[in-house]
Amino acid sequence: MRCAHCGERETRVVDSRDLDDSATIRRRRECSACATRFTTYERVEAARLVIVKRDGGRQEFDREKLASGLRKALTRRPVAEDAAEKAADEIETELRSQGTTEVDSSRVGALAMAKLRELDQIAYIRFASVYQSFDDLEALKREVDSLYAERGDDSVEADHRPTVGKAGKSGKAGRAGKTGR
Ligand SMILES: [Zn+2]
Repeated sequence: MRCAHCGERETRVVDSRDLDDSATIRRRRECSACATRFTTYERVEAARLVIVKRDGGRQEFDREKLASGLRKALTRRPVAEDAAEKAADEIETELRSQGTTEVDSSRVGALAMAKLRELDQIAYIRFASVYQSFDDLEALKREVDSLYAERGDDSVEADHRPTVGKAGKSGKAGRAGKTGR
């Protein structure tokens, strides 16, 4: 890192700290020749992630756009305030963990729907009706029916139900007999 004042290459780091997002480090450096101090920022460069749309078009992955779609679906639903952000983060992590730079948009949609399905069924239907644009009422009804069917199976697992008493740590026993899906 050259000194901005005299061009000297030898600089010394005098202070180093994480910024709020902790993906950025701010360093104060001092030039060994003229003692000028200056600041550098070191930032993690996220690998490119390109979304391939249905028509073959390509677009840089836009986490904010995904989060906003999730937020919309979750509007006024009884979920944690940061549920949409968290889901968007998890989806991004999942997409990036695949080790490829290109991902089909349908994969992103499927992950978003899976997340919403776990979070809140109304939000899921909202999102799916926009994203998947059910062909007719019958298709929408089939989807809702499948949610009902699932609900029957999973009622033991419903984490949102108020627990009885305070010794609610016996969850393991209740799940012991449950097999994977
Ligand atoms: Zn200098």
